[in-house]
Amino acid sequence: MNILVLNCGSSSLKYQLINMQDESVVAKGQIERIGAKDAILKYKPTDKSKQSITQVLEIKDHNVAISLVINTLLDKQNGVIANKSEISGIGHRVVHGGEEFIESVLITSAVKDGVRHCIQFAPLHNPHNLKGIEVCEEQLPGVPQVAVFDTAFHHTLPPKAHIYAIPLEFYKNDRIRRYGFHGTSHGFVARVAADHVGRPIEELKIITCHLGNGSSITAVQGGNSIETSMGFTPLEGLVMGTRCGDIDPALVLHLAKLKNLTVEQVDSLLNKKSGMIGLTEGKSDFRDIEDEAMAGNEKYILALEIFCHRLKKYIGAYSAVMGGLDILVFTAGIGERSPYCRNIILANMEYLGISFDPAKNEKNEFEIGTGPVRVLVIPTNEELAIARDTRKILAALK
Ligand code: ADP
Repeated sequence: MNILVLNCGSSSLKYQLINMQDESVVAKGQIERIGAKDAILKYKPTDKSKQSITQVLEIKDHNVAISLVINTLLDKQNGVIANKSEISGIGHRVVHGGEEFIESVLITSAVKDGVRHCIQFAPLHNPHNLKGIEVCEEQLPGVPQVAVFDTAFHHTLPPKAHIYAIPLEFYKNDRIRRYGFHGTSHGFVARVAADHVGRPIEELKIITCHLGNGSSITAVQGGNSIETSMGFTPLEGLVMGTRCGDIDPALVLHLAKLKNLTVEQVDSLLNKKSGMIGLTEGKSDFRDIEDEAMAGNEKYILALEIFCHRLKKYIGAYSAVMGGLDILVFTAGIGERSPYCRNIILANMEYLGISFDPAKNEKNEFEIGTGPVRVLVIPTNEELAIARDTRKILAALK
């Protein structure tokens, strides 16, 4: 049984075909620059006897992009399936499920309406997620589709954690609240962590740090998300590649007045020009930033200190909220592969029961902690989590 996992963005699309018998990736790839004359199609079959493809071509829209993905998977020479019927289900990553979607669901017209309703909360993401769903309905008719929401894992946030201290009417009337994101990843690594330590997740206090281009941290108590750093949008919380994370909200007003900025300009300033790219005056990729820092460049050293300091603050706060900590998890690009950052974040945390082995940290080993708090470096796998949810929902249909 093969499940196609799709993550449709505004101008990009990532896909994986996963064989659910052994949960292996049959083929994966992505399309970048949808809408451009020089879009890029990438395809990588796992079977070494077949060839990977990288092709630059015009891809007008998501219709063309998804038909290219399907045709590549079906390709006589380098494809991995002989017939569309070998795709048993499609799992879509959907960024925002609002308060309505608290778990993954089979896509129906009512679900599409719900996803459409949430466009107000995620105008840059949900329209494209929805487009992907509609195109698949046309191109793979009859194949069941499942929506897996980035926000769903955080539906267990208690009101004291998800309601902002602004007039309550905005929550009551407009559903303005903390939603949280990266839920599929936080949920996935928390479960892997519990399995690894061999204890039921229901009795564990876990902090998961998802550190990628976008970063967030979640407190998982008893298997439920009870605090998370991203808020109404993914802008809140940690310092990120190009996003500022937490700032004094009065700064937004002050900057707008001081520099005579429009709402759109402020939005771009905080989402695209801040964070690491703002602090380093040009770089958002942590590999480049760390290279500069290791060469002794003060500006980059400071940027990384700011990033790590913010995260350390949250680890302390979330331990306080849970009244202790059993497992600290690092995941995603930086979490999985940056000994430099983990080294700073984990320093002087013995008071909390956190200590680590620098040699294991250096080698990105799975378990790097040496104290009572287990410190784990766990590769995230959002695609597999989406495929598993899709399989579960398809099984219930039978
Ligand atoms: P996304 O959030 O787009 O899924 P990833 O989880 O792949 O991204 O994380 C991307 C980030 O991880 C980038 O900032 C990249 O520089 C960083 N990264 C990847 N490999 C390393 C590494 N070896 N050392 C430090 N940072 C790394």
